[in-house]
Parts: sequence; C-alpha cells; structure tokens
Amino acid sequence: MQELQKIDLQRDDAKRKLEAIVEQIADPPFVEGLDAECEAQTLLAAQAAGALREAAAAVETAQRRIDAADKRLYGGAETNPRVLEDLQRDLYAQRQRLTELRDAELAARNHSDENAAAERWLRELRETSLHIWNTGQAELREQRDNAQSQVTALDQLVDEQRKRLSQSDLSVYDAYRLRRPRVVAAVAGGVCEECRLTLPTMIITRARRANDPIECPSCGCLVKVA
Ligand SMILES: [Zn+2]
Repeated sequence: MQELQKIDLQRDDAKRKLEAIVEQIADPPFVEGLDAECEAQTLLAAQAAGALREAAAAVETAQRRIDAADKRLYGGAETNPRVLEDLQRDLYAQRQRLTELRDAELAARNHSDENAAAERWLRELRETSLHIWNTGQAELREQRDNAQSQVTALDQLVDEQRKRLSQSDLSVYDAYRLRRPRVVAAVAGGVCEECRLTLPTMIITRARRANDPIECPSCGCLVKVA
C-alpha cells in the first residue's frame, strides 16, 4: 500500500506539472492587437507618403511657372515696360511662394519618414515577439510531451502495483484516497511519519495485527507498522 501511495503521489505531481504546461500552450495573445496597430500605421504612412507626393508636385509646378516667367522677363520678346514691371513683381511673389512650398515639402518629407519608420518598427516588433513566443511554445510542447510520457509511465507502475494488493486493501485505499492525497503513514519508533505524533501503544498493537485499517488519531492516515 505504501509503495502504491508513493507512485500515486508521484503521478499526482506529474499530472499537476502536465496540466500547468498545457495551460501555457496557447495562441499568441498579442498578435491581434499588434496586427491592428500595424494596419493603422500602414494607413498613416501611406497617407503621409501621398501628402509628400502632393507637396513635391506643388514645388515642381511652381518651379516650372517661375522658369516660364523668367523666360518672358529676360527673353527679350517682351518690351513693354509696364508689362515687364508686372512680370517682375509677379516673379518675386512666386519665388516667395516657392520658398513656402519647399518648406512644406520638407515638413511633409519628415512626417512621411517618421511614419514609415514607425511602421517598420511595429512590423519588426511583431516579428520579434512572434518569434520569441513561438520559440517558447515549441519548448512548452516538448515539455508537455515529456510530462505526458512520465504520467503514462507512472500509470503503468500504478497498475502493476495495484495488481499486487488484495481487493480489500485496494478498496480501503481507494476510499481513503478519494478524500485525501496521503492515505498511509509508516510508523517508526512509535511515531506517525506523516504528522510526527507518538502513537498510543494500543494503536500500534492493533495496527500490527492489521486485520482492519487503523487510523492515526491525529492526521487520520492509515498507520502501517513495519
Ligand atoms: Zn499521523
């Protein structure tokens, strides 16, 4: 009975370990959130890139208009001083406007670069997190398989041990084990090894005869006198 209890307790322990491992095996909980963040950031980056293209096109258009005005002003074809004066004023205004547009393009470029960098960072974070998670999960699955084979091996030992016990011993043992993990306590030098109580002589004498199960009055274990 004590041998059976020893294996049963080992098996309880192995089962608890297995359960604890199985509980940790799961899909990565963070991927959904990270995917949503990546998607949102991709959208922002695309918008920023679009704004940059528009700003660059505006600079180009303004530059072309300035080039054209320049040609009219200095090309020699236009000779009317009033017109030339207007052209000069207009060209000055356009050049000022071009400076503003270039500043806007620079700002748009910075904004676009920042958003592209944020998107790359998020995607890398997703990949790295996923990799770490998957590595951990692979280890857990290996641990689970090992724990499972331990439980299976102990199952077999329990079966073998049970075959060595009488039917009446087994039914007493099983009835006790429904209520508590530890069923049997050895007695050494008159002391219950489970709770360290010095047992009354009468109990030891009765346990030695061992016709009926005798309980330790303190911890309730079945006492087994060697
Ligand atoms: Zn006891």
